[in-house]
Amino acid sequence: MTAVQQPLGEFDLIDRYFARSVGVRADVILGVGDDAALLRMPPDTELVAAVDAVVAGRHFPFDCDPRSIGHRALAVNLSDMAAMGATPAWATMSLTLPSADEAWLQGFSAGLFALADAHEVALVGGDTTAGPLTISIQILGHVEAGTALRRGGAAAGDLLAVTGTLGDAGAGLALVTGRLDARDRAAADAMIERFDYPTPRVRFGRAARGLASAAMDLSDGLVGDLPKLARASGLAAQVDVERLPLSPALQSLASPQQAREWALAAGDDYELLVAVPPQRWDALAQVARGLNLKLTTIGELRPGNGVRWMLGGQLFAAPEHGFDHFR
Ligand code: ADP
Ligand code: MG
Repeated sequence: MTAVQQPLGEFDLIDRYFARSVGVRADVILGVGDDAALLRMPPDTELVAAVDAVVAGRHFPFDCDPRSIGHRALAVNLSDMAAMGATPAWATMSLTLPSADEAWLQGFSAGLFALADAHEVALVGGDTTAGPLTISIQILGHVEAGTALRRGGAAAGDLLAVTGTLGDAGAGLALVTGRLDARDRAAADAMIERFDYPTPRVRFGRAARGLASAAMDLSDGLVGDLPKLARASGLAAQVDVERLPLSPALQSLASPQQAREWALAAGDDYELLVAVPPQRWDALAQVARGLNLKLTTIGELRPGNGVRWMLGGQLFAAPEHGFDHFR
């Protein structure tokens, strides 16, 4: 006799996939199950809060592996903590699902909790509704009072640097949507991995406090994001486009122009952009080396406003804007 599969109800779904009692942090006084969570802040810290939603068909293709969707939904929020130099600690999640598909929920929660565990983040509450697939996670963290990295702290003469490599996620998305030919399978898989499983630079962000003068994460592409940091700091920026760090895999798959365009404008890289006073560069580079993370200077901040992109000593017409939902 075959058992009849009862559709999973809202509360069973939460219990089965999201109410984990293992690995919960000691500072979670009350987690999933009550009307709200109770969390204990470490002394002398500031609460750091951010929220980011990911929407099917908007931030990822509809047929994306649910494991990567779970990873991404948290990763984009961890990246905001990284950009502030904060320690992520807790998350709440508003989950809107078309249906309670158990195979999907299993993959999704596995991807979410694998990344949560790696960063010792506890899911402490949420909300579950039926509707078009949207995952909105609020991340909560803390930072020693007065030490958070901001966008507005840079000074003229500070160097601009980025972690990792840029443009990989753009290539990954182009590969999964059939706009780029996977002529080198290993390179293509590496790029798809970079799109599906972005790596938030949380450790680097924390270690950059006291060294970097300003920071932000690159979610919309350098052409969209750098002007925000420059404006917040009341400065102009100049970038040498040939210095943008491109991975060997990206260079093997795309023309130099295409690689450059993705590095500038595709977004989804979740690397950090930092400003650093020249006298603190060596110390910050040392931090990056200690984390086995590439850190590349790409330009500098100057008095004035706006961003000048240079290529081969000439002004370069960069793509007009990065990713913008309403454009
Ligand atoms: P309320 O109606 O009081 O807002 P719910 O009945 O919606 O609470 O949720 C029950 C409990 O489950 C709450 O503690 C809530 O935080 C938690 N919860 C609901 N959905 C999720 C989810 N997707 N992930 C984690 N916790 C959730
Ligand atoms: Mg309630």
